[in-house]
Amino acid sequence: MHRVPFGGRGPFAVGRMRLPRDCAQARSGAARAPDPLWHGARMDEPTTAEAEADVRELAELWLVPHERECLACYLDRAVAALGCQGDLRFAGRYRDLAAPRAVALEQRLAEAGGPCDCKALMHGVQPAWHLWTPERWVPTDSGTAAVQRAHPPLDMPACEGVRRGSTRPCANWHSMRRPR
Ligand SMILES: [Zn+2]
Ligand SMILES: [Zn+2]
Repeated sequence: MHRVPFGGRGPFAVGRMRLPRDCAQARSGAARAPDPLWHGARMDEPTTAEAEADVRELAELWLVPHERECLACYLDRAVAALGCQGDLRFAGRYRDLAAPRAVALEQRLAEAGGPCDCKALMHGVQPAWHLWTPERWVPTDSGTAAVQRAHPPLDMPACEGVRRGSTRPCANWHSMRRPR
């Protein structure tokens, strides 16, 4: 069952989306198309695709959690850097490297509406209120005023840090629970 991303979701449903590159499924609402770069080049593909896949794999290996970096900040950084791959590989990598005891992390994220890294981020957390630009009236060229909706930051500040082994977000985020 696919849910429409941002469906009925308040602030994230309008304005500029903060996440620069979400997965194909999130963009189209349709089933995710296989990513030829990631899923291995086919025999008839040019070898540049294989080379790109190698580069991407290397980049992914290089992307390790910072000291005390929280899961949300790590996912935000990983999705921004490499794009969502349509699965929970970055969450799994965070677990392996920073929170090895969170054995059910992917299952928990998927059940909370995050079958992939970008959706786990979108549906699991939102930027803390103190980071938002509040709604305000702005003057227009015609001499009137228009309301500018509150919007989340386009770039998140550095992680506030969490206890090692925790999968909770740092103070830069609010946890959310998707309505079922
Ligand atoms: Zn995604
Ligand atoms: Zn953080």
